[in-house]
Amino acid sequence: MNLTYPAEVEDFRTEVRKTLAEELPPGWRGIGAIPTREETEQFVLRWRGVLHRRGLLGVTWPVEYGGRGMSRLHQVVLVEELTRAGLPFGRQPLDSTGLKMLGNTLLQWGSDEQKASYLPGLLSGEIRFCQGFSEPSAGSDLASVRTRAGLEGEEWIISGQKIWTSGALACTHIFVLARTDPDAPKHRGLSFLLVPLDQPGIDVRPIRHMAGGEEFCEVFFADARTGASQVVGPVNGGWAVTRTLLTFERGEEAATNPILFRAEFERLADLARQTGAIRDPVIRQRLAASFARVEVMRYLGYRIMTDVLEGKELSAAASVSKLYWSEYHRQVTQLALDVQGLAGLIPRGKGPSRQQRADDPGGDPLSSNAWWQVSLNARAGTIYAGTSEVQRTIIAEQVLGLPRDVRP
Ligand SMILES: Cc1cc2nc3c(=O)[nH]c(=O)nc-3n(C[C@H](O)[C@H](O)[C@H](O)COP(=O)(O)OP(=O)(O)OC[C@H]3O[C@@H](n4cnc5c(N)ncnc54)[C@H](O)[C@@H]3O)c2cc1C
Repeated sequence: MNLTYPAEVEDFRTEVRKTLAEELPPGWRGIGAIPTREETEQFVLRWRGVLHRRGLLGVTWPVEYGGRGMSRLHQVVLVEELTRAGLPFGRQPLDSTGLKMLGNTLLQWGSDEQKASYLPGLLSGEIRFCQGFSEPSAGSDLASVRTRAGLEGEEWIISGQKIWTSGALACTHIFVLARTDPDAPKHRGLSFLLVPLDQPGIDVRPIRHMAGGEEFCEVFFADARTGASQVVGPVNGGWAVTRTLLTFERGEEAATNPILFRAEFERLADLARQTGAIRDPVIRQRLAASFARVEVMRYLGYRIMTDVLEGKELSAAASVSKLYWSEYHRQVTQLALDVQGLAGLIPRGKGPSRQQRADDPGGDPLSSNAWWQVSLNARAGTIYAGTSEVQRTIIAEQVLGLPRDVRP
């Protein structure tokens, strides 16, 4: 494990700190301290504009596509500094899907034409992609997708249904995993397509979830169309492209998650002090266990970063990281509800601005609204990007070398 960063990366840290000092409003305490939800949303959009203008979105991307050609360690340092200052990296979940997942995948698999058409627009925010993978009968077993696409002349014609598509209503495009050869074995007959959402063959319907939000949707395709050149990677070779994308989805924040979760833990400890729950020996023990888990997460992050620097394959480590943070978050948010006791049932304060991961840094520890919404959303963390059961199978097979699980 290597705990030091090279000098040029530390120079970049200095640049980021300088940018934050110049661009943040005076007295900045973190995004959670902004008084209302509307003001928070306005700030997030404005802040995304600042990151774009200062060349801090897509720092690892090549200069020709609007990036800065830096290393992944530079990206980690950037997100470390933003997280420490209580700032989001872009607009979530759209930038997670567009920049982190699709942008990075296009750099690996996209044609020159696709990179030139999409990457600058993803950075500016004019092009916004959602993820069209899951279907009503294909989630964990993603390769069973039934949405079909066939080439007719210069276009792919697509029919079928996707579900749980986060942010679809705010997006301009969707990337779709579709069956393009129904006769091939299921992993070999799939293609990865880039599809514009604004067309007559596509109907997007929001789904309201138990925390009250409507971030995810059903997307129906009835002879929807996209150009023949909009397939990423080989035709019928979409599974390999999908695996690349899932690794970006699961593993990218391994080194920076612990900073976010540590800030949330500090707010929980504050809550326990202010409510007096800290005097309860069982609560104290559970707090101590949570602190220990955040520390383990930190060292896990360092280990994964060391692997990245040594150019090792990330896939199984990404699963370890995803399983660890999402299971931790369910436990710690349940503890937050227990610390509040009956008082937590009375809605108070502002809800969180983000629907995924930890609560907003700088938020009021006594906001029961924030804790219960984050706690409900933490239930989703062990499902999206692959459930805990699926991650355990990957770890069992790829890390521990246990015999392969039974496949249906
Ligand atoms: C907040 C949120 C946002 C999401 N956003 C998106 C999005 O933007 N785009 C998108 O495409 N999808 C999205 N999803 C969907 C997500 O990827 C799926 O929910 C997930 O892959 C699980 O699939 P499923 O819901 O069909 O459950 P299923 O696959 O039906 O699983 C049901 C249960 O069975 C277990 N199980 C299944 N197979 C196995 C096995 N082989 N071994 C052991 N246990 C098993 C699972 O662990 C789970 O507990 C989102 C989900 C959530 C919760």
